[in-house]
Amino acid sequence: MKILVLNAGSSSHKAALFDFAQGQEPAWRAQLDWTHTAGAVELKAQTADGRSHQDTLATEDKTEGLSWMLDTLVAGPVQTLSALGDIQAVGHRVVHGGREYQASIRVTPAVKDTIRQLFPLAPAHNPANLQGIEAMEAILGEVPQVAVFDTAFHAQMPAAASTFPGPYEWVEQGIQRYGFHGTSHRYVAQRAAELLGRDLADLKLITCHLGNGCSLAAVRDGVSVDTTMGFTPLDGLMMGSRSGSVDPGILIHLMRHDHYTADDLDTLLNKQSGIKGISGISNDLRQVLEAANAGNDRAQLAIAMFVHVLRRHMGAMLGNLGGLDALVFTAGIGENSADLWRAACAGWEFMGLHLDPAKLQRNAADRDIAAADSQVRVLVIHTQEEWAIAQDCVQILAD
Ligand code: AMP
Repeated sequence: MKILVLNAGSSSHKAALFDFAQGQEPAWRAQLDWTHTAGAVELKAQTADGRSHQDTLATEDKTEGLSWMLDTLVAGPVQTLSALGDIQAVGHRVVHGGREYQASIRVTPAVKDTIRQLFPLAPAHNPANLQGIEAMEAILGEVPQVAVFDTAFHAQMPAAASTFPGPYEWVEQGIQRYGFHGTSHRYVAQRAAELLGRDLADLKLITCHLGNGCSLAAVRDGVSVDTTMGFTPLDGLMMGSRSGSVDPGILIHLMRHDHYTADDLDTLLNKQSGIKGISGISNDLRQVLEAANAGNDRAQLAIAMFVHVLRRHMGAMLGNLGGLDALVFTAGIGENSADLWRAACAGWEFMGLHLDPAKLQRNAADRDIAAADSQVRVLVIHTQEEWAIAQDCVQILAD
C-alpha cells in the first residue's frame, strides 16, 4: 500500500511517501520552503535509497508548488512511482480538530467545513492544512484523504482537566484546554507499551515531547487525561521561543502600562520568549548548551529554568495519574540530550526512579535507559508522526 503524508504549513510543506511493502522508512520525502526566495519556492527531495534532488520554481501558488513537488515522484532523479495514481490515500496533519474530532477521519465536504469553522482557533495552521487538502484534491482527483488532528488524542480528557477556571461562558465559547502534539504523544505511548511488553490499556505514562515546541501528556490506560498545552500551543512548558505558562497578570500589566497590542503580545510570547528570550542566543538548545558550558550566565539560567519548569509540570501530571510505570522522552531534545535526561530525572529517586549511566550514550534505537532495579522505566522513543498518520490512513481505508 502506498500512502502520501502531507504536513501543509503557511510557509513550508513536508511530504513523505510510505510504501507499506517496504516498512516504516519513507520511500521518498520532500520539502517545499516558501520563505527563502521572494516569488519562488525551493524544493528538496530524497529517497530511502540515497538519491536526492534540489530545485527552485518561480511561483507563489501553493497548489502549483505542490503539483511540481509531486511530479518528482514520477519523473527525474528521485522518481519512486510509475504514476501518481499509485497513491492509495493521502494523510494530512491537521492541527485543530476542536471538540468535534476524537480520532482521525476520512475527509468529506462536512469535515472540510468543520476544519474551516475551526480557523479562529488555529489561524496559523488550519487554513494551510485545508489548503493542502484542497490542493491534493485538485492534483490527485478522487483519492481518499484522511485528516489526523493534533488535538484528537487529548479530546477524551475529563472536563476537570480541559476546562479553564474562567467564567462558565468560556465553556460555551469553546475556550478550553485542547492540547497539541497528540499524534506524537499517542505514537510514543503505543510504542512504549510495545517496548515494555505491556498492554497500553494497563499503563500509567508521562510522555514528554521536547522539541522546539514542548508538551507533556499524562496517559492513563491509553487515554490522555491531562496535558500541558492548552487553548493554544503556547501554554505549559518553557519552549524554544515560546514562554509557556506565565502569570496572565503580566499581560494585563504590559497592555495597561506599555500599551502592548494583541499582535505585540503574540510576537513577544511566541517568538521572543522561552530559551531564546532568556538566553539571548537562540531557540536551539544545542547552541544554548554550548554557551552555558562556556560560562554564559544567561544560557545557564535558560537551561536551569527549562529543567525547573519541566520538573514542575512532570510533578503536576503525577497527581492525576495516580502512579507512574514509565516516563517517555521524545522529539529533538527528548531523543538526544543525555544532560536533559539526567537533569529531568534527578529528584525522583524517592519514587524509585533511577537511570542507568551506562545506557545514556548516543544510540538511535528506541530504548529503556532506566537502571535494572528502577521502579519506573525511562524510555527514549523516536517520534514518528508521519508514520502514525500513514497507519491511520490504512486503518480508515480498511474500515
Ligand atoms: P524538534 O522540534 O523535534 O526538531 O527539536 C528541535 C530541538 O531539539 C532544538 O532545540 C535542538 O537544539 C534540539 N536538539 C536536537 N539534537 C539535540 C542534542 N543532541 N542535544 C540537545 N538538543 C538537541
